[in-house]
Amino acid sequence: MNVVFCSSECVPFAKTGGLGDVCGALPLELEKFGVEVSVFLPHYRGVEAAGFPIKKIGSGLSMTTIGRQVKVFFVEHQDYYQRNGLYGDQHRDFPDNLNRFQFFCRRVLETVAGWPERPDIIHCHDWQTGLIPVYLKAFYRNSPLSRTRTVLTIHNIGYQGIFPKEQVKTLGLDHDQFFQFGLEYFNQINLLKTGIVNADVVTTVSPTYAQEIQTRTYGSGLDGVLRSRTDGVMGILNGIDTEYWNPADDPLIRSHFSAESVDKKYLNKRDLQVDSGFSPEEDVPVFGFVGRLAQQKGLDLLSGVMETLSRQKLQIVLLGVGEQRYHDMLRYLSNCYSSRLRVFFKFDEPLAHQVYSGSDFFLMPSQYEPCGLSQMISLRYGAIPVVYKTGGLADTITPYHMGGNGFVFEQYTKESFLAAILEAIQVYQDRSRFRQLVRHAFDFDFSWRCSAEKYVELYERLVGR
Ligand code: ADP
Repeated sequence: MNVVFCSSECVPFAKTGGLGDVCGALPLELEKFGVEVSVFLPHYRGVEAAGFPIKKIGSGLSMTTIGRQVKVFFVEHQDYYQRNGLYGDQHRDFPDNLNRFQFFCRRVLETVAGWPERPDIIHCHDWQTGLIPVYLKAFYRNSPLSRTRTVLTIHNIGYQGIFPKEQVKTLGLDHDQFFQFGLEYFNQINLLKTGIVNADVVTTVSPTYAQEIQTRTYGSGLDGVLRSRTDGVMGILNGIDTEYWNPADDPLIRSHFSAESVDKKYLNKRDLQVDSGFSPEEDVPVFGFVGRLAQQKGLDLLSGVMETLSRQKLQIVLLGVGEQRYHDMLRYLSNCYSSRLRVFFKFDEPLAHQVYSGSDFFLMPSQYEPCGLSQMISLRYGAIPVVYKTGGLADTITPYHMGGNGFVFEQYTKESFLAAILEAIQVYQDRSRFRQLVRHAFDFDFSWRCSAEKYVELYERLVGR
């Protein structure tokens, strides 16, 4: 089985969120099942910083290897990819994103069309690669690639790659093809939509999100398009790379720990408190947050409860970058409540590990969450998640009062969020109950194994094996 991953992010080379984690980790797990995987990624500025030897293999293409034999190909284009930022800066998306990603899709197909053995599957991820199934139909109908099957995985339906229809010429498609391939959506170009219409199979990253996005509330306008697929949408829960995210030997944290040595976790807590400028008080619970500063992530709820929380004994450490309005809001809140809230406005991998390992609780009040990796990572580091019951959060976190592994609120209101945090604080104050809960956190296995098996089954079904 020969599978090509096509993605705009892949750790350790390029990441803004979970997409990067998934496209870096899943190929390594598939490889263990005997699948031959290659990954294509734009050659962004900074991919060299990962420290892998990248060699040029032809005009406009370079390559390295991760895992045992997973080849990662970098599509080069000086103007398109040698920039700061993958999709834009803090203020706006790059105005030529359509050119940047259509170029990427075209180059992937041109490259694999020249391989002696065609790929069995091209696995596309999110809107940036939504054109691949279309180009296969438009340009490779009479070539061996016509027998290659496509899978499109939706990592977040809130991002669709929408562009003015006047830019259609950029795509190399004519007016008829624009309609024929379902690129048109409300008189604009919608790349995720065309991917959904043309891929052989559509998957998403958790079973609950697969149901949710077929409803008006969560479908971001594409629920009807999804429902019109007779085979529906398959939900396969993401995993995490448990070798990378391992508190027992994580090189990015100062004190290593496991279920058997949870006490050492509290050395990390102390470090995090000090590094954040808080007083290192052991009996004050630390709540962490690591994530993109976007509406989806529930920061408005946090803002709504800050005043009440400021009367509680707690410390919140927040790490994130994103939309300007959330930078402004959080800067304001951290000035008002400086003894309760510290914010680091950056993308910082080592600091993320320190927040996971040093926090007692992890805040994830996401309005919607396709899968969410942070709640799984935080559990692995003994930080108990406080989450809204949605998407992958609903599939991975169950309420403490029902014997579960976290604190879950079911109404998307600041009152419900607050009640969940207050319940968490109450449990924290009962030291033996809290210790038991932390130890229980280590019992959960969110490794990729089980999910990778499901992808292998899917690929085999698709190619008729
Ligand atoms: P999403 O894909 O919506 O961004 P996920 O929970 O699936 O959310 O994945 C987020 C990933 O990105 C996690 O690995 C998290 O640790 C990481 N991350 C997000 N923001 C930052 C940041 N500012 N610094 C370091 N890592 C971050």
